[in-house]
Amino acid sequence: MEEAYLHFVWQHGLFEPGLLRTTCGIPVILQNRGTYNLNSGPDFLHARIQLDEKEWAGHVEIHIVASDWNRHGHQRDAAYNSTVLHVVHTADEDVYRKDGTRVPCLEIGSRLFKGTETRYTQLMGGMENIPCAYGQPGNMQPEAKQMMHRALSERLLKKAGVMTEKLKLLKGDWDELFYRQMARYMGMKVNADALETLAERLPLRLLLRHTDKPAEVHALLFGAAGMLHAGMKDAYSRDMFKTWRFLQHKYYLQPLNPEQWKFMRMHPGNFPTIRIAQLAEIVLKGGRFGLLADFHSAAAWKNWLNVSAPDYWHSHYRFGVPSPQRFKRVGKDTADVLLINAIAPLLFAYGDYTHEDGWKERAIDLLSSLPAENNRITRQWQKLGFENQTASDSQAILGLQQLYCSAKRCLDCTIGQKLLAKVQ
Ligand code: SF4
Repeated sequence: MEEAYLHFVWQHGLFEPGLLRTTCGIPVILQNRGTYNLNSGPDFLHARIQLDEKEWAGHVEIHIVASDWNRHGHQRDAAYNSTVLHVVHTADEDVYRKDGTRVPCLEIGSRLFKGTETRYTQLMGGMENIPCAYGQPGNMQPEAKQMMHRALSERLLKKAGVMTEKLKLLKGDWDELFYRQMARYMGMKVNADALETLAERLPLRLLLRHTDKPAEVHALLFGAAGMLHAGMKDAYSRDMFKTWRFLQHKYYLQPLNPEQWKFMRMHPGNFPTIRIAQLAEIVLKGGRFGLLADFHSAAAWKNWLNVSAPDYWHSHYRFGVPSPQRFKRVGKDTADVLLINAIAPLLFAYGDYTHEDGWKERAIDLLSSLPAENNRITRQWQKLGFENQTASDSQAILGLQQLYCSAKRCLDCTIGQKLLAKVQ
């Protein structure tokens, strides 16, 4: 058993009622079990209890065994002098406050509801992806809705935190952050890290010096990606290499290892060559953070993102290897990926950074106007009755799975709380 479970039991009063007595036989009446304390200090603050008809106001400390009081050093800590009740599963010894007075102890191990304990073990020990699946959590309203809402906010906040860290390293340059996020998600899952590394290696501010010569922007990106070399097979590729060599020496650039680019088991339209060419076009078209203020709908974004790779790529997927003619535009699906994973989190991060909630609301509105993601995780939750209509639903599902279920936070989840509380 974990102490967190006893906290939950105490918080929700999940133990046999009836006459309670301390280990010394003094009758206990619980008027208020206190407020759960998530910071340092006693576990529950500002409780009110009656001991032998005398009322006490103070804090409650909870342990699995009473001797944990000493093991945790509370007997030397004045912060615990106001503890009015020590609640334990098993009372193995008497304990004392720093001021030398004995702490009244309530043993509740034998009073715990067996059903709650069984469900708790089931939730915590479950190896399945969704340990509470047996309870049909999708049918639990309003808890399911509440958790979806909470998980979406927490997921976006977490992403905002990661972006704020990146922003610090970028000395507050939101344009550079925008470029890096776009690069990352142009790479889809497989080449995301490599494309973000490329954007780090070749910052936007350097590319912007060459936007009057689009071929140089392409040569810089492909060269820094390690995709250009002396033996290129056709005129376009050879020109790219020549331009890259000149710029490489000018800026002392080191190319990435070409081995890190993945082409296997991938739709050719997602090949990193095509994505790099499209990223170059996004930069050339003026892809900057300021667009977030200009575009207020998914349609406006999709219209803007509908960029095409240069002509060479309509008949190639790789340098020097001709292929049937096919336009290489940023398609609808890729635009959705960029809007869900780069643009909406950037809007939210900016709102969080500036403390302007309007930006956060726009992030959520944008997600709500985009189609839901469809993957193994979302399908599992849909089977359990969870709605998955828009990207705000699918992002909430992914947040719930990652931040709560996988992290075994069932005690913090209103679905878990309801499941535990109803079985006695
Ligand atoms: S965290 Fe909530 S939704 Fe996830 S398994 Fe636990 S009870 Fe279910």
